[in-house]
Amino acid sequence: MAMLGEPWATSRYDLRVSQSPDAPDVDQLDDSSGGYGWVHSYETGSTVDGPGVRVTVFMNGCFLRCMYCHNPDTWHLRDGTRVSIERAELALAGYATALRSMGGGLTISGGEPLVQAAFTRRLFSAAKRLGLHTALDTSGFLGVRADDEYLENVDLVLLDIKSWEPGTYRKVTRQDLQPTIAFAERLARLNKPVWVRFVLVPGLTDAPANVEGLARFIAPMGNVEWVEVLPFHQMGSFKWKAIGLRYKLEGTEPPTSDLHNRVLEQFRAAGCRAR
Ligand code: SF4
Repeated sequence: MAMLGEPWATSRYDLRVSQSPDAPDVDQLDDSSGGYGWVHSYETGSTVDGPGVRVTVFMNGCFLRCMYCHNPDTWHLRDGTRVSIERAELALAGYATALRSMGGGLTISGGEPLVQAAFTRRLFSAAKRLGLHTALDTSGFLGVRADDEYLENVDLVLLDIKSWEPGTYRKVTRQDLQPTIAFAERLARLNKPVWVRFVLVPGLTDAPANVEGLARFIAPMGNVEWVEVLPFHQMGSFKWKAIGLRYKLEGTEPPTSDLHNRVLEQFRAAGCRAR
């Protein structure tokens, strides 16, 4: 049933988006023992989610509602498959020898892996017992859930900072920037290796002052190995339509190579390694 005053809420996805930012169902369904996780999918052979060749596990559950999200079908836990930690560990063990020989490991992505902090904690711990490199792909919004013990089993954090200006961040994600900044600062204090990821969307995140502010924030951090500028593209838009969501970036073009280069140069000029 569409809610009063929300005529766009034509599907249950729309209704939950309209209830965001709280999305209480996600929080309440986390299994505190980590015995089960809600998993969207696995990808084997990834070479972009950390060093070497990797297995990437995409978890369900996310508090953000990014305008350009490629995987809106990961937003809600129960849209995933419920998997026991034992089954996940067994599957991972089957790849361990190959992953070690290819200098790779396990990346946990999403959705947001820290929605299911207990399950992902156990999976990272299992990966370290198997001798694998581990990477956490996160927006940082729930960074407080990754306590120091959690991070001991994480070798690399892929930290998506979606905007520097809080107003733009809220427009893009419907959430506050501050928890991500606090998490980035904590990772710097811990000297935890980080690759910052920044999605470049023309007309949304490309303002020179926005890029400049982020570059100046990151540059002094000795733990940030790379800034990765990811050009916006339309490949996820079909999913929005398929599940009945309105996709607001329909008319947005990918950044030109000139714009992409300008942003890369802004990061480099501030002293970041950017690619
Ligand atoms: S943080 Fe990732 S999964 Fe969550 S809405 Fe944004 S792009 Fe989608």
